[in-house]
Amino acid sequence: MKLFTFLWLLFATWAQAADGKLIITYLNMPKHGLAVVVQTPGGRTWMIDTGPQSEPYDAGRDTIEPFLKARGITQLDGIAISHPHGDHYGGAMWLLDHLPVKTFVDTGYSARGFTLAYNRVRQHAQERGAIYIAATEGDKLDFDPDLTVEVLSPPKTMHNVDTDPAKITEHGLLNTNSLFLRMQHGQNVLFFPGDAYGTGQRYVLEKNPAERLKAAVVTAPHHGFNTHPEFAAATNPKYAIASCLDFYAGSEVPSPGEKLTKQFEPLGTQVFVTAWHGNIEITSDGKDVTAKTERKGK
Ligand SMILES: [Zn+2]
Repeated sequence: MKLFTFLWLLFATWAQAADGKLIITYLNMPKHGLAVVVQTPGGRTWMIDTGPQSEPYDAGRDTIEPFLKARGITQLDGIAISHPHGDHYGGAMWLLDHLPVKTFVDTGYSARGFTLAYNRVRQHAQERGAIYIAATEGDKLDFDPDLTVEVLSPPKTMHNVDTDPAKITEHGLLNTNSLFLRMQHGQNVLFFPGDAYGTGQRYVLEKNPAERLKAAVVTAPHHGFNTHPEFAAATNPKYAIASCLDFYAGSEVPSPGEKLTKQFEPLGTQVFVTAWHGNIEITSDGKDVTAKTERKGK
């Protein structure tokens, strides 16, 4: 890269981050997972989930840190982990070891299905000096003074933890208790539901009036596999984004991207899929949202 090009890119990146806009980037990864970079209007940086880690791939080392470096970001104001599954927290260890991280947020979940592997991440964050916050319904997270970030689910008591284990798998229990975030920037609302299944989505639908559900951007719950039709209709976003692979052998829905497109396009929503579009960047100026993708898509 020529020096001039490099300087121009550096300037463009800096100008972008410093002009009071919210920039959200869904990182495309070669493995199944979710990792979202949130650059706030005030210049802070948060991660919502950190992708997978399974050698030879580490989302923290191979995707997230290089992306942050290219944008001149040398520390994280926070990492929020939606739920303790490896495709969401895998990259966190690398980030905690290689960047200063001020805050570490999860739901505090420690019931059935909770693992020692995840507990090590939660503890390591604190050993590395991050402030630990266990956030549940009703809590607000301090991402930036210009953003309102509310936790809509799970409730403090968690969903379905007393349900007969024969009726809900550990996997489903962890997904449904995902940290379900509603972010507001001016007039724009963005949802980050993690892998919340129907129970988590229905809970949010029941507890919130219609005007709080209408959204500009929806991160498709559970990578696009499980968006409740009522959640899609109630949010009716301009953009729906799935972080997923193009194809899942043996799955009931081999391509969540196709499923999501069928669900959202009749609503007038534009669908983006990391496997098709590469990195997906959403910018909010508080009034409108715009999207920019690395590739043209399918
Ligand atoms: Zn997942």
